[in-house]
Amino acid sequence: MWGLHPLLRHVISAIVTDAPLPDRLARAITLAGPMPVSQFMAAANAHYYATRDPLGAGGDFVTAPEISQMFGELIGLWCADLWDRAGRPEVAWVELGPGRGTLAADALRAMAKAGLTPPVHFVETSPTLRAAQGERVPEAIWHEAVDTLPADRPLIVVANEFFDALPVRQLIRRGEGWHERLVACQDTLFLPIAGKPVPLDVLPESLRDAPAGAVLEISPASVTVMATLGRRIAAQGGALLAVDYGYEGPALGDTLQAVRGHGFANPFKTPGDNDLSAHVDFTTLAAAAQGAGAAAWGPVTQRDLLGQLGIDARAAALARAAPDKAEAILADRARLMGDMGTLFKALAVTRPDWPAPAGFGA
Ligand code: SAH
Repeated sequence: MWGLHPLLRHVISAIVTDAPLPDRLARAITLAGPMPVSQFMAAANAHYYATRDPLGAGGDFVTAPEISQMFGELIGLWCADLWDRAGRPEVAWVELGPGRGTLAADALRAMAKAGLTPPVHFVETSPTLRAAQGERVPEAIWHEAVDTLPADRPLIVVANEFFDALPVRQLIRRGEGWHERLVACQDTLFLPIAGKPVPLDVLPESLRDAPAGAVLEISPASVTVMATLGRRIAAQGGALLAVDYGYEGPALGDTLQAVRGHGFANPFKTPGDNDLSAHVDFTTLAAAAQGAGAAAWGPVTQRDLLGQLGIDARAAALARAAPDKAEAILADRARLMGDMGTLFKALAVTRPDWPAPAGFGA
């Protein structure tokens, strides 16, 4: 009887075992060597989102649609207004990473009041969150990725805190050059190290001479999603609205963060048990959409967008309708418009011949 080569036996057990994720990652690194930060982040988040509902007071973090129904309603009005001014075509409505389905439920209600009742498509990989979404939006059609979205009509796409969850590569400056940042492991302790040098031409010229220790992040997965949707919108018509925390790059900075129980944690500890995210580079996302033939708008702050979409009037109307909740409604409005309102930004994408989207100052 031929015995399995010991290395093969390790590889097989690393793949098929249901050992905890940190053990599997540790074994994969022991066998194949340190892995790029992006691969570590992708594996950690896939496990994290597949195994829990992280949102809300009892979870790890709270998002804008979970703070107040006003957020989803105003985004629904943004969609309906654009659709109306585009001549009311037959569209499909798409949400990327819909969480619990709260934004979708609020947006669809507001859109229906404006006469827009489109088929609903969700791009979501987590089975746990798909189940939660199905309770709020039972008619939705789910997709693993954007490639399978309908190709025969304009798409109106929204994404709140989606792009920040997609993996980033990190490049780190060491000595004379830049290196891919890798995740190594000792026992089950993970730690970032500098890997092979990368060619200088992958770095924006303005940043090449940064001081030792400087980190540059790039998210190829985000660019791929945006380029695909930009191409679809340019070909089929439609628009996209992405809201996230981020910056107008290129910029240096290690923004990879882990959140657990509403506090910050070490991103390299207990992978799969805390939410990993990175700030979104809106300049690169806009360029990806433009490169695909679409028009990009903004970014504008969440505060400016919600202000222009009428959050004050909406809060006043809700408060009038439920006087006992007036204080809470105004507090929620303040939360969306305060620190969060400037940290979070919105980027819009349209087909160039579509009308200008509301809230982008055109
Ligand atoms: N938009 C929601 C949830 C934000 S959390 C809200 O604002 O409350 C991030 C969401 O993106 C989750 O639904 C998560 O499961 C999903 N997600 C993360 N990575 C994904 C990927 N690669 N493909 C599809 N969905 C993903």
